[in-house]
Amino acid sequence: MTQTNSGWKPRIGRLFRSITRILFLLVAILSLTYWWNPQKIHYPQRQLINSPRVDPDLATLISPQTRITVVVGHPDDAEFFISGTLLKLKGQITLIVVTDGDKSYYPPFTTNVNENRRVRRLEQTTASASYHAKVIFLGGPDGRYDPDEPALRDRLRQTMIASKPDYIIAFESEYVPTIQHRDHENSGKATLELASQTSAKWALLFATNSPNFYFDTTGTWTKREELLAVHASQFYGEKLERVKGFVMSKAENEGEIIGTETAEAFRAIKLKP
Ligand SMILES: [Zn+2]
Repeated sequence: MTQTNSGWKPRIGRLFRSITRILFLLVAILSLTYWWNPQKIHYPQRQLINSPRVDPDLATLISPQTRITVVVGHPDDAEFFISGTLLKLKGQITLIVVTDGDKSYYPPFTTNVNENRRVRRLEQTTASASYHAKVIFLGGPDGRYDPDEPALRDRLRQTMIASKPDYIIAFESEYVPTIQHRDHENSGKATLELASQTSAKWALLFATNSPNFYFDTTGTWTKREELLAVHASQFYGEKLERVKGFVMSKAENEGEIIGTETAEAFRAIKLKP
């Protein structure tokens, strides 16, 4: 009996303990990576099915007298997601960028955060000149924007109110894609929560999987390509081509829905009568 016990049974016990330890370590590493990573996974997705189309007073939206406040997570978000719309708006645009996209939390940690900040702010200001936007940087932490952090939230609130918007454009934070950057979602969440304190009558939310309004962006593609290339620290060489391809096919697909060359999709929410 003693011989048998020191044979296969203890060996199986040891093997089981080793496997348990490896699995535990693996789960710990994956959890830590997920916690660190700025992307969030939403599964199952929240989505509004068959929601009716909404007209957010299109004539007012494109009027030269209209003020539009756009809130994004990083320098380049406006160009990546909605520059077709921004290029066609004739009113006064204020672009609020909540973080500097300085990559302070990405490995390797030797990255020059101040230089990243300088370059990315310059790229954003250069790109935004094409659609005559006033750009305001809030300087929040890249990858870790906290929508409830009191000082940042107050700066966002004050900046939004001071811009006296008729329309607010921001990231969707409720019906988001399966994978979403936390700065995108959190900037959208804070913006929507604060929107009722501003003069805005409409909120237009982009990067949504429940659109109810499509803005015709026909004729803006050449300029959009140029604007993506302005963010040369992010999009260059092969990557620039990939990004252009992705943005173009999304614009074409959304255009197909309303029968135009290209379009951009939003979820329009009425804030005030
Ligand atoms: Zn971004």
